[in-house]
Amino acid sequence: MGKFMTAVRAATWSLGISILFCMELFAQSTNPADLIISGGTVVTMDASRSIQQNASVVIQNDTIVAVGPRAEVESRYKAKQTIDASGTLVLPGFVNGHTHVPMTLFRGLHDDVTLNDWLYKYIFPAEAKNVNEEFVRWGTRLAAAEQIRSGVTTFADMYYFEDAVAEETKAAGMRGVLGETFIDFPAPDNKSEAEMLAYTERFLKKWQGDALIHAAPAPHSIYTCSKKTIQDASTLARKYHAPLLMHVSEMKKEWADSKKQHGMSPVQYLDSIGVLDQDLVAAHCIFVDEADRKLLAQRRVGCVHNPSSNMMIASGVSPVPEMRAAGIAVGLGTDGPAGSNNDLDLMEEIDLAAKLAKITKLDPLALNAKAVVEMATIDGARALHMEKEIGSLEPGKKADLILIGLDEPNAVPMYDIYVQIAYSLKASDVKTVVIGGRFVMRDRKLLTIDEPRVLAKAREYQKSVSVSLGMQ
Ligand SMILES: [Zn+2]
Repeated sequence: MGKFMTAVRAATWSLGISILFCMELFAQSTNPADLIISGGTVVTMDASRSIQQNASVVIQNDTIVAVGPRAEVESRYKAKQTIDASGTLVLPGFVNGHTHVPMTLFRGLHDDVTLNDWLYKYIFPAEAKNVNEEFVRWGTRLAAAEQIRSGVTTFADMYYFEDAVAEETKAAGMRGVLGETFIDFPAPDNKSEAEMLAYTERFLKKWQGDALIHAAPAPHSIYTCSKKTIQDASTLARKYHAPLLMHVSEMKKEWADSKKQHGMSPVQYLDSIGVLDQDLVAAHCIFVDEADRKLLAQRRVGCVHNPSSNMMIASGVSPVPEMRAAGIAVGLGTDGPAGSNNDLDLMEEIDLAAKLAKITKLDPLALNAKAVVEMATIDGARALHMEKEIGSLEPGKKADLILIGLDEPNAVPMYDIYVQIAYSLKASDVKTVVIGGRFVMRDRKLLTIDEPRVLAKAREYQKSVSVSLGMQ
């Protein structure tokens, strides 16, 4: 009798479970979705770095709600739109962790000169004579077109009139961490620190809670900003829970001067004045010794490596393998695009980051393909302190993803996916880009930017900038 009752209870229990399971399946089968990216090879960059063949990504509003085997996922969701991703790699959008986008309009203005000559003979005069809000808007539009074409969905910027950069970034449908520059000389937009503070506070207030734009203060560096300027910018960042963007230890002279003036390295100096913390996004970090690396890791600072820029300006090589080993989040950036790159192609940085580390250490194992793809995606997100939002394809993350075609001669054969992304595939293989659930490029056609108009305008600027500098 006891056994019988136990069996009855078990049967009832399993029946209940079955009913619940069926109800759940029924409920799931009716789940609405906006978009399904169907049947691609999904390189998730999740914690286990899973790569799923013939998988689908389901998007509702601006968020990923499911990633998994095509048949299983698609039986649970009914989407308004499904696109066929078979034969492509589906990746999280790339994160360009450091750039100055309006400078696209100065691309190639003067190169193969020393950094000092470039800055003082060409760029500062060119900026003084040409940079205004209109210039910044056109430069940002051009940069948005170029970045979307290379699979960048989020970028971190430091320039002037950053509110205009933010408006154009949002209009292009891109995600941006956009830093208004603080610098201790009259800038094209704000002529004093008081003006910089007032402008930046208005800017931070305006974009609070925006889905795409994260506004930030950006003290240029320790060699162009006083302690007070840096601390004021940092206080403002904390007040608005914003990141703080800064060039850190990017030049040997900066490091030597810091040692001379403060008796410590730039990283230690920033710590001593109370701004080295988890909100900081530090571009370059070339001259960082073991003690600095320990400090950067402890304070959870995000670092951004810019291999093209480091090579072009001959500034030095960031110790990326050591920084990663110390537990620092290291992302990738293009810097530039003028004078130190001169483009915004993050796929090139993926390739160069690995090769630069290998040649510097004379060791082909120094930094591998998987590591540099991490730096362009999930680690780039960590470096910007945005890993809860972006950087991998997982439920709950923003729907920022790219489809990379595999039908060009440079894409076949493919034995190893990370190796292919790092060393063989090119920006021109990026076919389709989705940011926050919205198509911004579909089959190489830009959908949020009037590209012919932007290109024509850039050519007009080439003439006016040349005239302003007496080059024509
Ligand atoms: Zn820079």
